[in-house]
Amino acid sequence: MTDGPTTGILSEMTIEEVEALDPEVVVFGIASTEPHGPHLPYGTDTYQTETVVRRAVTRANEEGARALMYPTLPIGNNVNFKAFPFACRMSVRTLMNVVLDVIEAIEEEGVEKIVLVNGHGGNTATLTATLREHAGRHGPGGGAFVCMTSNSGAIPEEERSLIEHESNHAGELETSRMLHIRPDLVREGELDEFPIQLPGIEHLREDHVTFVPRWDGYMPASAGGETRESSAEKGEAITDAAADWIAELLIELDAAPIDELFPFPERS
Ligand SMILES: [Zn+2]
Repeated sequence: MTDGPTTGILSEMTIEEVEALDPEVVVFGIASTEPHGPHLPYGTDTYQTETVVRRAVTRANEEGARALMYPTLPIGNNVNFKAFPFACRMSVRTLMNVVLDVIEAIEEEGVEKIVLVNGHGGNTATLTATLREHAGRHGPGGGAFVCMTSNSGAIPEEERSLIEHESNHAGELETSRMLHIRPDLVREGELDEFPIQLPGIEHLREDHVTFVPRWDGYMPASAGGETRESSAEKGEAITDAAADWIAELLIELDAAPIDELFPFPERS
């Protein structure tokens, strides 16, 4: 055995510890580095994703699971942020290929269960398509089982309701999380209500219509919504609850045998 802690955080483990863990499930966070208004740092999505995945993997392993945290990808899709400086980005096809390569490398280790945790809204459509591309490369039951959740989607309703002002970017939710995770990086004097603009064409406002919103039109300050009621307490409750939810997913996946129709029951 080893003397180091079996946290499951790959970047902090030795080769002996990784061999001893013999992971059953691998978790891969995919985030972004892009502007988050005058009050939050570019790394906001990456800090949040890393924190949620780290806590989820640590908790699952404390409960006896064998989960491994892969290094978090800090660059994603940001084609709609070009009006802002240094919104880091790679193309849709490149992100898809990076994720497919990582999935393949994990499969080559003999791992059959992979969880992607997305931390950036601009990545969602690409990652969903990537799951289908991966499935298409294997016959039925071939390749690893890959599923995806997100660090915001994993927040249970009760904790989500702590957030009084809705925003999908750099609003009360992300500001609260950063006040908990990296308060030193939050410019508290800059907290404000940042404008969120709807399209002028009314029929484009419906949820079932999709287009790529140029972010300088949607959120001219790069952040949107009221942020002045953000707090570290809300951020901690939300971050912990999301980590707990993902930990439970990992524990369930860890314990489930890979059988014929996984994850569905055998034909009756
Ligand atoms: Zn963000």
